[in-house]
Amino acid sequence: MTHDLRHATGPAPELAVGDDLAVLGAVAKLAADKFAPRAEDYDRRAAFPAEDFDDLFSGGFLGVAVPREYGGLGYGPQQRNTLPLWEMTTTLAKADLSLARCWEGHANSLVLIDALAAPEQKRRWFTGVVEHGEKWVAWSGEPQTPKPGESVRFGTTLTPVDGGWTLRGSKAFATSATGAQWAILLVDPAGPGGARQTREVHGRLLLLACDLSDPTVTVDTSWWDPVGMRATVSHVVRFDDTFIPRERLIGGPGSYFDGHWQTAFVPQYAASFLGAALAAYEYGLGYLKRQGKGGDPYVQQRVGSMAVNVETGRLWLRHVAGLWDERRLDEARIAGDRAWHVIEHLAEETVHHVIRACGARSLIRPSPVERILRDLTLYELHDNDDHVLATIGRAVLGEQYDPSFHKL
Ligand SMILES: Cc1cc2nc3c(=O)[nH]c(=O)nc-3n(C[C@H](O)[C@H](O)[C@H](O)COP(=O)(O)OP(=O)(O)OC[C@H]3O[C@@H](n4cnc5c(N)ncnc54)[C@H](O)[C@@H]3O)c2cc1C
Repeated sequence: MTHDLRHATGPAPELAVGDDLAVLGAVAKLAADKFAPRAEDYDRRAAFPAEDFDDLFSGGFLGVAVPREYGGLGYGPQQRNTLPLWEMTTTLAKADLSLARCWEGHANSLVLIDALAAPEQKRRWFTGVVEHGEKWVAWSGEPQTPKPGESVRFGTTLTPVDGGWTLRGSKAFATSATGAQWAILLVDPAGPGGARQTREVHGRLLLLACDLSDPTVTVDTSWWDPVGMRATVSHVVRFDDTFIPRERLIGGPGSYFDGHWQTAFVPQYAASFLGAALAAYEYGLGYLKRQGKGGDPYVQQRVGSMAVNVETGRLWLRHVAGLWDERRLDEARIAGDRAWHVIEHLAEETVHHVIRACGARSLIRPSPVERILRDLTLYELHDNDDHVLATIGRAVLGEQYDPSFHKL
């Protein structure tokens, strides 16, 4: 298929495919005019940013990592045009970090489908995204150790049946649970644990596309009451003998780990952290100028540090994206971990500089800084920075390392 589906029947995008700067400019305008002003309301209501996704669809951006021959923008590591995807993520995160997490889940799913799905699966699912605005996400989260007071143990069990499997159990941290139409479920057929929590899962892990309108799939909204990232609606999702037909299997057993796909997604988190830093920086700079504090030498130092931090973050992402596009994969993977580590700390430091330089009122609504602080605090825990750093050290030392989930 070579024709551009988006132009044939899609939502009448105004932008020429391939015009990356125009695309990024249009997304930045949407983010500033519409997404940033909506962020506080989504956060307060802990509601999925549905209108933002409607706007992304109408603008022709939902097929961001869908190859151009299927009507998408053709961004991302699989298409060797990585930086525009990550820059879009940064732009969305600058408006709303929760929106960026939902966006990452969607974009990462498209990258996986592009890399691993069969042609007929691609045709069907990419058409759903480009023409009908369908949103995707990928769910692994099956933490096995209960937190204090938690009686539930999360996890799924897969049973082979005629024509496919049935899935029973639950997943936590299911981002976009009330907003997405499709989820790629990362399932260990040997039992609970998903991809992240089990050690020996590599060769077994299955990627199963689940239609979330199936009545056996239910969302428990009582669990997700976190300090930040509230609008990611990362609820607990239950599967009550959900039938997954064999034709919804993406790739083969173990293909997620064989292709080290998690490593393509690690720098996207860093792109989001950078967006949070940029938002705080921009707000702080305006605040300090309005208050006439530019003459204070301590303020000058903090602003200098913020400026270097965000520029450093951008340079790191550009560097890692280049390695992906040049297919220097081993270097790209470990550089992605380095980018995660350094940008996490730069973003955190930048937000704290803003708070120190601007003072207490910067943490009182409607200042966005209080939300950014809450969101970043939680989002940084998606991976464990101690383990990320140890992974980088093990690579340097020539020890065995796991660039996907940074397990010891
Ligand atoms: C906002 C948000 C959205 C998310 N969205 C998604 C999503 O869409 N899909 C998805 O699949 N997941 C998602 N996650 C979940 C994420 O992938 C992690 O599974 C989750 O953050 C782990 O939670 P925890 O820190 O309480 O986990 P725990 O598993 O309890 O880990 C606690 C700490 O112990 C460490 N640890 C865990 N196991 C070991 C071990 N064996 N040895 C040594 N240390 C260990 C961890 O690194 C961590 O620092 C999301 C997380 C957040 C915060």
